[in-house]
Amino acid sequence: MSIDTTTSVSLSVRDVHLAFGAHRVLRGVDLDVARGATACVIGPSGSGKSTLLRTINRLIEPDRGDVLLDGRSVLGDDPDALRQRVGMVFQQFNLFPHMSVLRNITLALRRIRKLGEDEAVALARDHLELVGLAAKADARPAHLSGGQQQRVAIARALALRPQVMLFDEATSALDPELVKGVLGLMAELSAGGMTMVVVTHEMGFAREVADTVAFMDRGVVLEAGEPAAVFERAEHPRLRRFLSQVL
Ligand code: ADP
Ligand code: MG
Repeated sequence: MSIDTTTSVSLSVRDVHLAFGAHRVLRGVDLDVARGATACVIGPSGSGKSTLLRTINRLIEPDRGDVLLDGRSVLGDDPDALRQRVGMVFQQFNLFPHMSVLRNITLALRRIRKLGEDEAVALARDHLELVGLAAKADARPAHLSGGQQQRVAIARALALRPQVMLFDEATSALDPELVKGVLGLMAELSAGGMTMVVVTHEMGFAREVADTVAFMDRGVVLEAGEPAAVFERAEHPRLRRFLSQVL
């Protein structure tokens, strides 16, 4: 796959806190992802994984702490500009149902990258080709399988030339037989040098693809390290208990 990852940057989350009212959802999260590396975030439901991703691309502003790309804080930046640099893929694809696959991508390119129609169409076709869906350009999302829709969502995010990609349980809504194709695409991206944070329940993917696995529990990263260390030599009892339930 030839995706331009020369623009990838490192990502650091430093002591990020966030409360919804009295509910302290993030209580001092630290996470470091080297340029071109993949961090998988695992942990129980409600531990703050989605909220963490949303603070990284500034769908939510943290109460305290910092988010740095290549060592530079992004918290003062324009959130829309940041969302071009930090692509995000959701569990539910979030494609516009009333538009063709191609149009879903060109719309993002025109609005966010301010490209003209011809250039947007050419780039959208390139990215559909990249995810193996060139033939589906004119189809409506509803006529695609969930796995194909998710690949379109990934193509759309990549077409914006992000420096970091965030994935929030990108395969959790897919039928089991469609999961592999999407994970394969994510693994290719990772191998191609994209900086990625992947929230996932797919422990096989985390073990094989991640450079770092971070275990979140109750709003903090309780333990992080190389996959082998986390999966085979977990120190924290809560992580050991979590792994005994999911492996
Ligand atoms: P995870 O992705 O690990 O399952 P989330 O980040 O979605 O966890 O949620 C962590 C906690 O924050 C949960 O208790 C959830 O109910 C709460 N939460 C998430 N978003 C909001 C919100 N917008 N308003 C209030 N509470 C929220
Ligand atoms: Mg979540």
